[in-house]
Amino acid sequence: MSIIQQRDQTYVAPTYARFPVEIVSGKGSVAVDSEGKEYIDLGSGIGVTAFGYCDDEWIAAVTDQLGRVQHTSNLYYTEPCGKLAELLCERTGMKKVFFSNSGAEANECAIKAARKYAAETLGADRYTIITLEDSFHGRTVTTLAATGQAKFHALFQPLTAGFVHTPANDFPALKSLAETVRPAAVMMECVQGEGGVNALDRSFVREVAAFCRETGILLVVDEVQTGNGRTGKLYSYMNFDVMPDIVTTAKGLGGGLPIGATLLGEKAQNVFGAGDHGSTFGGNPVACAGAWNILSRIDENLLEDVRRKSRMIFSSLEGAKGVESVTGMGLMIGIKTVRPAAEVIAACRERGVLCLSAKDKVRLLPALNIPAELLQKALAIIRAVCAEGTAVHS
Ligand SMILES: *Cc1c(COP(=O)(O)O)cnc(C)c1O
Repeated sequence: MSIIQQRDQTYVAPTYARFPVEIVSGKGSVAVDSEGKEYIDLGSGIGVTAFGYCDDEWIAAVTDQLGRVQHTSNLYYTEPCGKLAELLCERTGMKKVFFSNSGAEANECAIKAARKYAAETLGADRYTIITLEDSFHGRTVTTLAATGQAKFHALFQPLTAGFVHTPANDFPALKSLAETVRPAAVMMECVQGEGGVNALDRSFVREVAAFCRETGILLVVDEVQTGNGRTGKLYSYMNFDVMPDIVTTAKGLGGGLPIGATLLGEKAQNVFGAGDHGSTFGGNPVACAGAWNILSRIDENLLEDVRRKSRMIFSSLEGAKGVESVTGMGLMIGIKTVRPAAEVIAACRERGVLCLSAKDKVRLLPALNIPAELLQKALAIIRAVCAEGTAVHS
């Protein structure tokens, strides 16, 4: 084992089952390991590097800001934070933005906002938040409680109270649960990522949105993974023609630097006053300057290209030998394979293609600007690996 892996295994808390690859550099959708081997990266750091590795425009935006001021604390005004908030609001119709550093933090803020809003407008007992089974909302004690997957909960009890889960795509179940628990909000991903890359039914999303509007319950959409162009629209809720009250995002927004954002719509825009919430690093000028560059480039041309490459993936893999099903939206793809997903991922890696997993599926989250030729090359390798059946490869 190399010194890099040895040191990591000795000193880094072993919470990650890392692949045996040391990435030392990258450009666009190509990663290079410590032995000089090149990979077509279809994971983009779990949907983070929206424009791939070391994108020139993003580097220019980040380094320009780095040379001016790297941090001030939120005691002072800086330009990038306000500019990014303005762009987020202009592109979504939301009214105010709170910045943090991760998806979990963006969701924590949404939960606080929903609780305070509900306490003030619906009543002090209105704190429960309904989330969906198979959802994923983060790793903090509260966002774990929101996450509707029991496997993440074991041995971390007691989690934050006030979360209940209901099956996806079953509106009558959600409605009757809401009548019992009298919630503050419903929170959901429109395409469940970690839960297996499953898009919610359009009718379900629209029924939930209408129900929330009629009953004064806030609709919180977690766009941490689905956001920022990933599903072929700027935010995934836009595929469903609904308007959430609160939107959270992170991952792809930063292009590789940590950032989280909680977007507050018409109803919740004034829920926070001075001192209600905060973050030392939130709104960091370097992260925001990079994110502004990323967001400003996710225009209709790019989104059309994302949708075109999505169709390319579906038509390449649907019905291919060894492929049971292809799910997802845009460049957020789940592949149910005949061979175990871990085996497919390992064989693809051997042949120079990096993929992710989600539950029992192979998951693809390529950079939004992956060149079509590279994508085709990677898809040919995935098809070949899936077709190989269950024979042992080494
Ligand atoms: C990744 C993810 C999170 C958590 O984001 P972190 O930045 O890891 O805290 C929350 N929600 C969804 C839908 C995610 O995919």
